[in-house]
Amino acid sequence: MKKNNNQIPLEKLSPRRLMCLDACTRCGECKNWCPVYSLTENEKVTPRTKIKNFKSVLKAQNGFLGMFKSGIDPDTLADFLTGLYECSCCNQCHFVCPSRIDTVELWEDVREAIYRSGLGPMPEQRTFCENLVKYGNPFKKDQSARTDWIETGLQDGTLLYRPELITENKASVLLFIGCTATFDEKVSRIAKHTVNILSRAGVEFGVLGTEENCCYGKLRRMGDPSFKQLAGQNIEKLNSLGFDTLVSACAGCFKTLNADYPKVGQQKYKIYHLSEYLDILIQQGKIKFEVPVEGKITYHDPCLLGRHNNIYEAPRRVIAAIPGLELIEMERTRQFSRCCGVGGGLKIANHDLQEAASVRRIRDAEETGAEFLTTPCPTCFSGLSGGALKAESHLKVVHMAELAARSMGIGPAVKG
Ligand code: SF4
Ligand code: SF4
Repeated sequence: MKKNNNQIPLEKLSPRRLMCLDACTRCGECKNWCPVYSLTENEKVTPRTKIKNFKSVLKAQNGFLGMFKSGIDPDTLADFLTGLYECSCCNQCHFVCPSRIDTVELWEDVREAIYRSGLGPMPEQRTFCENLVKYGNPFKKDQSARTDWIETGLQDGTLLYRPELITENKASVLLFIGCTATFDEKVSRIAKHTVNILSRAGVEFGVLGTEENCCYGKLRRMGDPSFKQLAGQNIEKLNSLGFDTLVSACAGCFKTLNADYPKVGQQKYKIYHLSEYLDILIQQGKIKFEVPVEGKITYHDPCLLGRHNNIYEAPRRVIAAIPGLELIEMERTRQFSRCCGVGGGLKIANHDLQEAASVRRIRDAEETGAEFLTTPCPTCFSGLSGGALKAESHLKVVHMAELAARSMGIGPAVKG
């Protein structure tokens, strides 16, 4: 095979990231926990092999031998790229690594260097990123379609209140809807339930409507360097609106706003995930759950909410506040929750693998004997719903907002 002469720009990798490469002792603990390895038994995806292959690639490019060799060995490069992109960035490897390597930060920074070199990402991921930048959303929809869910919801009666536009009526709380709940028709009911809940709780809030932009988190996950500029523009715009609290109903948007944006610029508002905000409203007595939802339920921790943001208890408190529900935990929960495979661009790079990961998580949930599986993230909800269908599971996958709306008497009946 022909050698590749593309150069990976290393100046964007901090000394800390480069030091991580030497911190790996090759103990293999990450391999025992990686949700992708457990499905494929492909050693290339394990952090220890990714790190080893990346070091080989760098040696070929920059080391003494690099002066004599013409470019990077194509087989080593292909192995490295497969491992780098067939990874859901779930962060499980960080939590089990005895050297506590910041694996996902490392993968994302390396992905950015690879993106700049032109060696990656996978073709489908590059097209995805280009469309995301072009359209401002991953669904290739016109910006004017961002309020379609409001109009259809008002017409069919699923949306009980028309949300105010924060650009027209100032409010202290911004509900950031996110692209998935905005454009994915199977998921947009989450946006409607959230609006119904906040309205019924008396929260003065607004939405951005056609002025909302993608958080662009997917660009960061896949290493597209335009993330920083687009995130910076979002921060500037959001800061100019004068609200003091942002509520996100999506774990992906939340991770981007809460953990990635602070590295780009200062935000003048507090950020809550919907599950945290519901928990606060319950404690303040503004939300009262009065309609029982009878049944056994299990809870899936979204990686981007749990391992990436340390939010484990607030969603569990919301479930506990709903009368009739009995929470039964899966064997792998909290820091050890098994990823549903949707994140990190894995779904785009290898849809079958992502679906297999969701089916595996459905099996975890089935083992509890529960009738319901809930999660507070639209993308996990979407992945797990697809997994339940594929697995022909009896489980009913329900987003947390739907459960809350039901128990407030403003949502559809939730049956096991
Ligand atoms: S757990 Fe950490 S130290 Fe051990 S092989 Fe994996 S990355 Fe290396
Ligand atoms: S981030 Fe998750 S999927 Fe990627 S290597 Fe680590 S454990 Fe595996």
